[in-house]
Amino acid sequence: EEDAALLAAADDAPAHDGPEAPLPVLAVVGRPNVGKSTLVNRVLGRREAVVQDVPGVTRDRVSYPAEWAGRQFMLVDTGGWEHDAAGLNARVAEQAEVAIAMADAVMFIVDATVGPTATDEQVVRMLRKSGKPVVLVANKVDSPVQESDAAALWSLGLGQPWSVSALHGRGSGDVLDAAMAVLPEVSGVASPLPEGGPRRVALVGRPNVGKSSLLNAIAGRDRVVVDSVAGTTRDPVDELVLLGNRPWWLVDTAGIRRRVHQTKGADFYASLRTQAALEKAEVAVVLIDSSVPLTEQDTRVIQQVIDAGRALVIAYNKWDLMDDDQRHLLERAVEQDLVQIQWAPRVNISAKTRWHVDRLVKALDTALGGWDTRISTGKLNSFLGELTAANPHPVRGGKQPRILFATQADSRPPRFVIFATGFIEHGYRRFIERKLRENFGFVGTPIEISVRVRE
Ligand code: GDP
Ligand code: GDP
Repeated sequence: EEDAALLAAADDAPAHDGPEAPLPVLAVVGRPNVGKSTLVNRVLGRREAVVQDVPGVTRDRVSYPAEWAGRQFMLVDTGGWEHDAAGLNARVAEQAEVAIAMADAVMFIVDATVGPTATDEQVVRMLRKSGKPVVLVANKVDSPVQESDAAALWSLGLGQPWSVSALHGRGSGDVLDAAMAVLPEVSGVASPLPEGGPRRVALVGRPNVGKSSLLNAIAGRDRVVVDSVAGTTRDPVDELVLLGNRPWWLVDTAGIRRRVHQTKGADFYASLRTQAALEKAEVAVVLIDSSVPLTEQDTRVIQQVIDAGRALVIAYNKWDLMDDDQRHLLERAVEQDLVQIQWAPRVNISAKTRWHVDRLVKALDTALGGWDTRISTGKLNSFLGELTAANPHPVRGGKQPRILFATQADSRPPRFVIFATGFIEHGYRRFIERKLRENFGFVGTPIEISVRVRE
């Protein structure tokens, strides 16, 4: 009954601060140079996503929290694409496909001064097939004289073309209102993760770390006949594999098999793929190439996993390339490089020789175990009571915030809500997180802690 009372108290706290339904996702899609970045900047109200006239500059951030007319949503910005690489049309289509799959609604931008191209038509076919709501943007209509250019886009069969000048702002409010009108309140793509059945694993990592080699090592031999597992629905981009004699879903493997690295602009594409895979996965294996120093791109992939709230396993691949001395040095470097995520299980493997690939199973189980963990409110509060009595929050400005009580509002990943008499500073939250991990495990999972202040 004590738990019930505390949970009831948690219920009447502000709704926007707790575990939330996933925000709806709006993707901005179109050929290079049609003005996607310009429009995205207008929505986000900043210059951060720099508009480029110079080709070859890529970004790798994929989605941004955005707000329009009081609605919050995630904006997927595909404006980071390489502008004039070889095989461009194929890549535009491919990236559009991923972006569309990730989105609840799509803003499809066409350059009205150019008119629809063959690539545009290709994207239109994908949009139709997806069945998702589309808002057609006729961009670069800088003045009323050009309205006829916009009207020509009725021919695409996507309904009304909204004339916009992303550059000057003309019509951009109206088109965003139209997008809000078709965007659902809660995302239907980001959730819910399927419950039950084989667990869902994403193999992620920057290009060339060995994802496709690992996929082949796992799936090449022991591919399962999908129909043999009851209650599974088949998504052609996922593969069911046997690992440790149990079935697992490897999600979004089509993206791994369709190898697009070594071309310019591939970084951004890789991030988009990673994001799409993470959305469908419960746990991610981040592959790292042991034979070269950790790169910023590796760290970013790890951060993507944490931000997505997925369980995390780190796999140091290409271990066969290392001699004993190098292995020793690497172990030391890893301690430093990954100090922030010491909680993640680590395995050293060789996708090439299959050495220790089976050890992934234990790491996956451990990480998923942490991700699933739920602590009762009673246990949590007696733990916090002792912890804060022994290590009170520092006094600030003559005041000392006290923790009143806490509850684990959610698992997968574990989310905690702490009720306190004042602002709990970042360092102290980190301290609580560390102690939670020491006491309750939470191996392999990010933890979220939010604080609500009560007078
Ligand atoms: P993206 O590749 O689709 O992200 O396109 P950008 O946003 O980078 O825009 C490509 C070029 O088109 C830039 O030089 C922009 O300044 C220009 N541009 C974008 N929107 C408009 C517009 O509404 N009118 C005009 N005249 N130019 C625009
Ligand atoms: P992906 O881009 O992440 O899919 O990486 P790939 O699987 O294509 O691997 C990139 C390169 O690394 C290829 O030449 C692979 O043969 C090589 N590679 C992958 N795993 C290993 C490994 O465990 N040991 C060694 N020596 N090479 C590997």
